[in-house]
Amino acid sequence: MESLLTDTELGFKKDVREFVKQELMPHVDEWERRKVYARESVKKFADYGLFGILSPPEYGGLGGTVTEYLIASIEVARASVSLASIFGSPAGIFTDALLKFGTDEQKQRYVPPVIAGDMIACFAVTEPAAGSDAASLTTTATRDGDDWIINGAKTFITAGDVGDVVLAFATVDKSLGAKGITAFVVEKGTPGFTVGKVEDLLGLHASSAAELFFRDCRVSGSAILGEIGKGLRIAFASLDLGRIHVSGQAIGLAESALEATLIYTADREQFGRPIGDFQGVQWMLADMSVMVDAANLLALRAARMADAGKPYAAEAAKAKLYAAECAAEVARKAVQLHGGYGCTTDMPVERYYRDAKLIEIYEGTNEIHRAVIARSLRS
Ligand SMILES: Cc1cc2nc3c(=O)[nH]c(=O)nc-3n(C[C@H](O)[C@H](O)[C@H](O)COP(=O)(O)OP(=O)(O)OC[C@H]3O[C@@H](n4cnc5c(N)ncnc54)[C@H](O)[C@@H]3O)c2cc1C
Repeated sequence: MESLLTDTELGFKKDVREFVKQELMPHVDEWERRKVYARESVKKFADYGLFGILSPPEYGGLGGTVTEYLIASIEVARASVSLASIFGSPAGIFTDALLKFGTDEQKQRYVPPVIAGDMIACFAVTEPAAGSDAASLTTTATRDGDDWIINGAKTFITAGDVGDVVLAFATVDKSLGAKGITAFVVEKGTPGFTVGKVEDLLGLHASSAAELFFRDCRVSGSAILGEIGKGLRIAFASLDLGRIHVSGQAIGLAESALEATLIYTADREQFGRPIGDFQGVQWMLADMSVMVDAANLLALRAARMADAGKPYAAEAAKAKLYAAECAAEVARKAVQLHGGYGCTTDMPVERYYRDAKLIEIYEGTNEIHRAVIARSLRS
């Protein structure tokens, strides 16, 4: 991808890589082992300014581009996909939704503290019975005078256990289907809003995913983001941006897996020579490298289109689908080429393999992305 970046972008990439090396890398192993959301990283991201990458300066942001957001996502994910997921929402989908659809008051109330790392933000669509089919969500919001009463449950919500504010999607009228879905900004501490189980996940051990419950949770009308009944549009617009970010997560992981494998196969000897000398191994490395490049190119195209103000939903879906499958396949080959040692926690490829599986599921599964892409071909 380097050859397609501007000098400014290359400088940014170099700076973020240095930040990751100095501030995050030394802690990654400990944070991943601990299996709790790495709160310490929040202040580091915020102090470096990365949470504000896409937000305008008047809210404390850097006013950067989607391409820079992608670059930062890749660089952070090279160290840890958990940390990239901690970075993704405040820098992207949460603040993007607020800035695009919020009132001035909502923007002022939430964007600066989220960018400053003083508030952790979550984005809650998924429910126990509504995953891929987000439009079938059943959390309800019932009007009561000027207020709304929210009832329902959300599940797998990134940072749900530590979040200070959640963008939660609920239906104001189930009979309207997708047209009843509305977005609400709900703050921690609001009576009736509680956290449930924190999932014990296969991967992303330095992040978290939790259940959220709303039981007669009363919020004022000012908690509505955008228009009543337009929530799904907000969710899908934000998720397009999120898919570019998750492509970056997958690419960062795949790059690290490839690099670790290049080093290992040059070093590890069997049959009297480095295993990297065997053609069977070289072809696997070549395939891994082609996939990483292709994933980079697809993601860069989606980001460039977003920066140019063009519709990019299908391109983001293609990038996310391919990058997720690339990460899974590259991590699988990486473990294979590390042999038995690759199956131990002494080797980073063991973590890459576990984390890569999750990327194929969140922010839309591979199957749903194929459906989105197929629909775009027919329209
Ligand atoms: C680590 C992690 C973090 C997450 N963070 C968040 C978050 O912050 N906010 C949030 O709202 N959600 C979050 N999620 C939820 C995630 O978005 C959902 O898990 C995902 O959308 C899939 O939904 P599901 O798990 O209910 O699976 P299901 O929708 O039940 O799917 C099960 C299987 O059926 C397949 N399938 C379903 N429908 C079709 C179809 N039409 N055609 C073909 N195959 C189909 C799926 O591809 C999948 O293989 C997170 C999940 C994880 C694992």
